[in-house]
Amino acid sequence: MAARHKFGRQTKQLATVWQTIKDDQSHPTADQVYERVRRQLPNISLGTVYRNLQKLVANNRLQVLMLGRSQHFDPLVERHHHLICESCDRVFDLLLESPGEIRPALLPEDGFTITAHHSAFYGTCKRCAS
Ligand SMILES: [Zn+2]
Ligand SMILES: [Zn+2]
Repeated sequence: MAARHKFGRQTKQLATVWQTIKDDQSHPTADQVYERVRRQLPNISLGTVYRNLQKLVANNRLQVLMLGRSQHFDPLVERHHHLICESCDRVFDLLLESPGEIRPALLPEDGFTITAHHSAFYGTCKRCAS
């Protein structure tokens, strides 16, 4: 019982999904994770992969991002921003050295307490620009 990184009831499927995504900086969608997990567990279903991704989100190991039109999963759970290439849909992490506050010009009249913000910057990546 030495492992600190322990899932409550660890299943092989959950562990495989985690292994597949934990070092992945490409912000894959559930479909993309499924394609990779399937190479190791050919019988796994997309639904199971999706459920395990949600479990990892619930355990704060992944964050789920709505970028463009689809959900992307991100093992970098500290707050950060994203650059999105509009040509190839690749998503890049954007870490701000001093996460300066963004102050909205106008808040709703009945007030709103801001706890976080997330920005997505759209453009063209180097590969697509050349
Ligand atoms: Zn691109
Ligand atoms: Zn990210």
